[in-house]
Amino acid sequence: MEAPLYLRPRVEPPLGALLDDGPFLHSLVAALGSPLNVLLPQTIAENLARFRAVYRSHHLTGRVFFAHKANRSSALVRRLAAEDPAAVGIDVASLGELRHALGSGFTGDRIMATGPKNPEFLWLAARVGATVALDSLGELEQLAGLVRTYGLPRVDVLARLSGFEAATGPGRPATRVLSRRSRFGVPVREAGELWQALERHQDAVEPTGLAYHLDTTGAEEKIRALEQCVLLMDEARSRGLSPRALDIGGGFGVGYLADAAQWERWTTALNEAVLGIRPPLTWGGHGYGLRNEGGTLRGAAALYPAHRGSAGPGYLDGLLSASGPVLGRPLSTLLLEHLHDLHVEPGRSLVDQCGLTLARVAEVRRLDADHGPYLVRLEMNAGDMSLEEHGVLVDPVLLPHGAGADTARGPEPVGVHLVGNLCLEADLITRRLVHLPRLPRVGDVLAFVNTAGYAMDFRATRAQRRPVARTVAVERTEGSWRWCPDEDYWPITHPEGAPS
Ligand SMILES: *Cc1c(COP(=O)(O)O)cnc(C)c1O
Repeated sequence: MEAPLYLRPRVEPPLGALLDDGPFLHSLVAALGSPLNVLLPQTIAENLARFRAVYRSHHLTGRVFFAHKANRSSALVRRLAAEDPAAVGIDVASLGELRHALGSGFTGDRIMATGPKNPEFLWLAARVGATVALDSLGELEQLAGLVRTYGLPRVDVLARLSGFEAATGPGRPATRVLSRRSRFGVPVREAGELWQALERHQDAVEPTGLAYHLDTTGAEEKIRALEQCVLLMDEARSRGLSPRALDIGGGFGVGYLADAAQWERWTTALNEAVLGIRPPLTWGGHGYGLRNEGGTLRGAAALYPAHRGSAGPGYLDGLLSASGPVLGRPLSTLLLEHLHDLHVEPGRSLVDQCGLTLARVAEVRRLDADHGPYLVRLEMNAGDMSLEEHGVLVDPVLLPHGAGADTARGPEPVGVHLVGNLCLEADLITRRLVHLPRLPRVGDVLAFVNTAGYAMDFRATRAQRRPVARTVAVERTEGSWRWCPDEDYWPITHPEGAPS
């Protein structure tokens, strides 16, 4: 048999120590059911510190706004609320997230309201003194109207832009749009109208800067957009506005895999499987967007680049050190010279290593009576753990039932299909054949690592009246793990030493 096609997760402390404590994780699942989400609030604070270190090394001011939409958790939001107000705020994209942020200890001046907004969301954001990242000129009109009608305080606004154009040059048509089309933001080519509208509404809103969020990890697009915004802020200034902050959104990425070679090997094997050179690697020969057209590989794999050279704070550092294509100077130097605040809105990367999702093995059987691949049915469905939905491919960690960790290894590795508990053909935890060090047994637990960003509760449903996963926060104190329900976590220590 060829070597198993593992995709080993990247695990750092303290998540690694948590995974090593199989009996503790089993006891949580036994008490609270499967699936179960486990969060490490301490880690989000450590990730914040890493982002702040990048700010310091570039001598930049401004805030890190956590993109709340990545996770519904209270523990994570409250943990961040306890950090330095000048260092961290929160990006909320709905009325519910705004209320949650306020109730978790964020004051209005630390809140950035983004995304599509209804009047109630705009009203509350304005009422509490949040900054509003304007999605469109229509939204500006609507906000200004609310401020006047209800006598609200003047609102700080950032104008969100989209449709950045590539630098022009020989062989490059001037109108080539560099960033992919976005539903959000005012197209850069409408900047003239934007300045006029902001001037017109200065009684109701205070334009404090520009914003963008490019939903990509592609650095070239981001470098270009950042430089173009600095130039546009000069333009706004020449028109009498006084923008002073640039919000470059999120999308700094996460490295999910420990080993670049495994990722290379797996993606090469996928290409070969799609071409029919080797047996399928996926359920029903699914190609993740690749297809075989007469012996030629076509399409593009819709997969997250799960092994990353630099991600999160490291990615931000690289971006700030890069030079813009027009002025040819490092972006951090441009920001510094203009005295602009830099705001970032990391979601996925701020919750890197902050949690895992546990699922108990409910059934193990072969697809065809006594041969064919194994099906491993979990007490969870594809909505409970949606890494697959985001194209993130990574192996779960097998936590054996009953005995010590030594039983995680077996006579030989095995490829299995992980299927969910819904009465639905499409309910696959992943379409990929997953290699495990041994065949799982009923009662074992599989731990999916690094699910706190979008994979934990973003897609969870009550389909078939199945309960959604409970979420707990854990902390290590005096050599042992303590846990509490996510909603009961507060970032204080009780006299007896337990979190909350
Ligand atoms: C989703 C989103 C983010 C966070 O993106 P990540 O890729 O999770 O870092 C930031 N800002 C806005 C406006 C968003 O919509």
